[in-house]
Amino acid sequence: AAGGRLCACRFYSDEDRLRLAEEKELENRMRVALDAGEFVIYLQPKLELRTNAVVGAEALVRWADPVRGLVPPNDFIPLFERNGFVVDLDLNVFEQVCALLRAWADAGLQPVPLSVNLSRAHLADPSFVERYEEIRRRYEVPAPLIEIELTETLVFEDPERLARVIDELHAAGYRCSLDDFGSGYSSLNVLKDIDVDTLKLDGVFFDAPDFSQGRGADIIDIVIELSRRLGMRTVAEGVETEEQAAFLKRAGCDMIQGYLFSRPIPPAAFERLVFGQGRQ
Ligand code: C2E
Ligand code: CA
Ligand code: CA
Ligand code: CA
Repeated sequence: AAGGRLCACRFYSDEDRLRLAEEKELENRMRVALDAGEFVIYLQPKLELRTNAVVGAEALVRWADPVRGLVPPNDFIPLFERNGFVVDLDLNVFEQVCALLRAWADAGLQPVPLSVNLSRAHLADPSFVERYEEIRRRYEVPAPLIEIELTETLVFEDPERLARVIDELHAAGYRCSLDDFGSGYSSLNVLKDIDVDTLKLDGVFFDAPDFSQGRGADIIDIVIELSRRLGMRTVAEGVETEEQAAFLKRAGCDMIQGYLFSRPIPPAAFERLVFGQGRQ
């Protein structure tokens, strides 16, 4: 009730009102849009620095809205995280990834692993891994072909729950990665308890013009070395320049993902890139 009273005296600007109206409109349409297949995945390749081969990709959702066109996730994921819809959306993205891996196997193509983003909202459901497993089994896709990206901020929210979730995902055969590492107030200490297969270094590590000099450069070096010692692979995200790629290669980083090599692209374009002609 106190919240209600506070709410009543809160001052809304025209801008707030417009935003709230837009959000209401999105909320009215999201369920129908999901059922209509308007949420589609794009794939951003991960390039292995040692071999220059595409060794995987991250599935990133877009809302292919018939009126507004292709809407980027930052325009709707935050709202869907607040209203809980992100759980169904993530499951839908996961199913699209399973369907794609199934189609590649059926076409006799050598599949590359794909990763999906897992929102924090799933962690509240103690049986969420089983929901993923039900889908994966239906498509008969080997779990090691799928990597689950868990964002760094989860470490601060509930490290014990996160560690248990990772154990559960590993037990089912999935790979796990720690996403956005370095974007918040990470401590290297979290790597003691968070046993992931891959560390995704956030672009903030190397987006300053002088990233390759001084203390910043030493920190990147050490984080990559530490990952190696802990048996984790490293992916550098948001790599946009040759200079960054060369530096990361020298530092021993395993993979890069960023506009330098490729933006996120539709699955058909990804198939042409990786398999040549793709499937018919
Ligand atoms: P993220 O997981 O950190 O994904 C990487 C984002 O960085 C993507 O933005 C990608 O397009 C962008 N990016 C890649 N390379 C570069 C680069 O070289 N330079 C720059 N400036 N940006 C680059 P996108 O696709 O707009 O996704 C934004 C965020 O939305 C994602 O960040 C992720 O947190 C969230 N998201 C996307 N798809 C899903 C999903 O299916 N489920 C959930 N829960 N979240 C998702
Ligand atoms: Ca991610
Ligand atoms: Ca990221
Ligand atoms: Ca390991």
